[in-house]
Amino acid sequence: MVIGATTTYIWSAWVQKKFHFFMIRSNLAKLRSELHKVTSTAVELVAVSKTKPAEQVLEAYEADQRHFGENYVSELVDKYKRLPQDINWHFIGHLQSNKVAKLLTSCPELYMIETVDSQKLAQKINRTISTVERRTKLKVLVEVLTSAEGTKSGVSQSEVLPLTRFITESCPNIEFDGLMTIADPSKPENSFRILQELKIRLESESIPVRTMSMGMSGDYPIALQYGSTQIRIGSSIFGSR
Ligand SMILES: *Cc1c(COP(=O)(O)O)cnc(C)c1O
Repeated sequence: MVIGATTTYIWSAWVQKKFHFFMIRSNLAKLRSELHKVTSTAVELVAVSKTKPAEQVLEAYEADQRHFGENYVSELVDKYKRLPQDINWHFIGHLQSNKVAKLLTSCPELYMIETVDSQKLAQKINRTISTVERRTKLKVLVEVLTSAEGTKSGVSQSEVLPLTRFITESCPNIEFDGLMTIADPSKPENSFRILQELKIRLESESIPVRTMSMGMSGDYPIALQYGSTQIRIGSSIFGSR
């Protein structure tokens, strides 16, 4: 009885593991070939692994995925410690000032913070990072609120230029790299158009915008039509959460 149950357990765990492995691999291949077809410029695919176990991140890593996104500081810290050093981690969740020290000291080579939404937060990151030994400058994106429904995070459109100026002029330890938004679920194209207009506005002020992080599993084909350079995909790679 006991042996039978254990064998069944091991068998089903093995089947599940194989299933995830093939699912993740084929989902990544599908996304990559789509990106190849629809865009002439390179688009970064960030695999959003929040709530998924480190084993599944490793499966995507073994399929050559190197950019991953996480929303929660403690979950990222845990995965950062356990997973390969050459992963480029993106922090994509709402970041509270009191978590900045933990995030940056526990993940010294963090690649990007996509959710800077205040001068206070930018300043805190800029100060904290000066105490961390790193190989490269930390990249940051300004998160913009572009929707009436859904998310409430991000700065309003009128705050984008002043916050971006503050980062480029007063935060020498971090690098402003672009803009990020979570689209309005009912009208994603409106959100993407707003972000595109903000890019043009910043560039008219001689502030280069390299990264346009927009598009998730449900809306990335539309985001690509509006000049996305980075899509953040969770459920279409790892399955539903
Ligand atoms: C969860 C999340 C994603 C991925 O969402 P999916 O719909 O699963 O692709 C992308 N961006 C942010 C900010 C997220 O929180």
